[in-house]
Amino acid sequence: MKALVKAKSEPGLWLCDEPVPTIGSNDVLVRVKKTAICGTDIHIFGWDEWARRTVPVPMVVGHEFAGEIVELGSSVQGLVCGQRVSGEGHVITMHGRAARSGRFHLVPQPQGLGVNLQGAFAEYLRIPAFNVVPLPDDIDDEVGAILDPLGNAVHTALSFDLVGEDVLITGAGPIGIMSAAVARHVGARHIVITDVNPVRLELAAKATDVVPVDVSKEDLASVKARLDIEEGFGVGLEMSGAPGAFNDLVEHLVVGGKIAVLGIPSKPFAVDWTKLVFKMLTVKGIYGREMFETWYKMLGMVQTGLDVRTVITHRLSARDFQLGFETMQSGLSGKIVLDWTT
Ligand code: NAD
Ligand code: ZN
Repeated sequence: MKALVKAKSEPGLWLCDEPVPTIGSNDVLVRVKKTAICGTDIHIFGWDEWARRTVPVPMVVGHEFAGEIVELGSSVQGLVCGQRVSGEGHVITMHGRAARSGRFHLVPQPQGLGVNLQGAFAEYLRIPAFNVVPLPDDIDDEVGAILDPLGNAVHTALSFDLVGEDVLITGAGPIGIMSAAVARHVGARHIVITDVNPVRLELAAKATDVVPVDVSKEDLASVKARLDIEEGFGVGLEMSGAPGAFNDLVEHLVVGGKIAVLGIPSKPFAVDWTKLVFKMLTVKGIYGREMFETWYKMLGMVQTGLDVRTVITHRLSARDFQLGFETMQSGLSGKIVLDWTT
């Protein structure tokens, strides 16, 4: 089968011929149809320090996918061949307190498809049946392929009650933009999204009804005044990993405000803890998706009008992966979907 492989310990990826994976009794084999490029894949493509430390070579990369089940392990129940599916890319063990208590997303150190387990940028993917998420008929493969990052957005946005709230989202990358769409869908009032990249802010404004703010040019205090937000934003969603962005949230949230943090900073940074404490802010770290509550809520919202397709800016054949990765690296795109059937 064709697969996109980190074949050598150096920058780049290679489209290789690999054996079709053999499955265990609790796995399924998926014929992959569409995949999407994630920031994680860009780290692996660029072979930065995190990637060199984390990813064993050779590794088939990728974890955002939609496809069809073509083989079932002997112990698998409740799934059938021919079923259209996506899936949770974090693979967990069933040992330990969190798993035994049913809090699957809190299991420490999950293995990642395409990071430390052979991944989805391939014609075929082996995945534990537990991780499979069937796709309803009205959710196509293209949207199916971006459910993983939409799940990050949903997990973050639904961490706190957004109904009627003014929400400040820092970072208009694909996940920030999707979280804005979720906030709108569930009934937030004003949604302000910040970035320092005008292309991303333009995409955000196309995707949903938000107020885009370039924080390198405009001060959030004047935005609050313009929108008549007297005391501050009720909820903040950190979607950039930028130190300045976190501090914008601390500065512009209301006393008693709540911040959900998905963005991953590249290194530790200083926070105005005094302000954070006196404002009695709640900060929640977010990793991955809740297994599997996020998936059910996300599918339900997509089926009832949550539209995230605008965030897909490029559709390419998997053969043109190089272009896809370079475009994503430039920061001038939203999600990029690769087709494994052409
Ligand atoms: P992305 O890198 O495409 O988007 C981040 C955006 O933040 C960029 O558009 C960038 O221009 C913007 N930005 C930079 N400085 C800023 C500032 N000072 N203020 C506001 N915006 C600023 O990332 P993405 O794929 O949308 O993911 C969002 C974040 O979430 C990233 O940090 C990513 O690493 C992280 N992430 C975390 C998890 C998790 O499980 N915790 C999962 C996926 C992604
Ligand atoms: Zn991802």
